[in-house]
Amino acid sequence: MHELSLIRTLLQQVDAIQASHADCVLRRIDVSVGEFSGIDPELLRLAFSSTSEGNSLAGVEFRVARVPLCARCRNCDREFPVHRFRFVCPNCECTGTDVVRGGELRLESVTFEEQEA
Ligand SMILES: [Zn+2]
Repeated sequence: MHELSLIRTLLQQVDAIQASHADCVLRRIDVSVGEFSGIDPELLRLAFSSTSEGNSLAGVEFRVARVPLCARCRNCDREFPVHRFRFVCPNCECTGTDVVRGGELRLESVTFEEQEA
């Protein structure tokens, strides 16, 4: 499953952040999934729960937010939402565009709680 390897990569990033918060407990992981990424948020959640079963990640909240596809025109710099994968600038009708959001899976934030002494 594609989502499982994505989760592994994501958790490596979380691990790296956690290393500098050694005395804190991980509470929540927030990720965003782009419309254009081809990732199913539901499968991603399932992959997380199967990965976290019976280890230190059990009980950690995992939130997935969907991010709409957004592009920027290379000609006039206008940012615009992309509908039906039509990559045409609404301002100057240029077709040279770059995806600025919605094309990937991203770790947005990791929430820690201080451990009680
Ligand atoms: Zn334009």
